[in-house]
Amino acid sequence: MGKWEIAYDPGSNPGRRMKMRKKDWLQDMARQRIERLFELADQEFDKHPDRSNRYVHLARKIGMRHNVKIPKGLKRRMCRHCYSYLMPGNNARVRLRGTHVAITCLVCEKQMRYPYD
Ligand SMILES: [Zn+2]
Repeated sequence: MGKWEIAYDPGSNPGRRMKMRKKDWLQDMARQRIERLFELADQEFDKHPDRSNRYVHLARKIGMRHNVKIPKGLKRRMCRHCYSYLMPGNNARVRLRGTHVAITCLVCEKQMRYPYD
């Protein structure tokens, strides 16, 4: 499990992995909580989009506190600009642009681009 940082963040400094094991464990817990919060955000979106946004905010806070990155797949589910939870076809428009996926947040009208994979 200690190697996931590399998997999720190829640009990170490997030296940072030399911290205590307890930290690894805490980061793993934090990552699980983040994933759970995004799951909840997904479930609540239909009826309570405001709750979804709150879950996303919470997930970001946990990530920052424990120095855990939001997993790649989940990052695309939130707006990098206004941090809204994004539901494609609802408050987000997804377009494939060659090697990239262009996601437009319909809340703040800004666009994000991610590599297509
Ligand atoms: Zn936005």
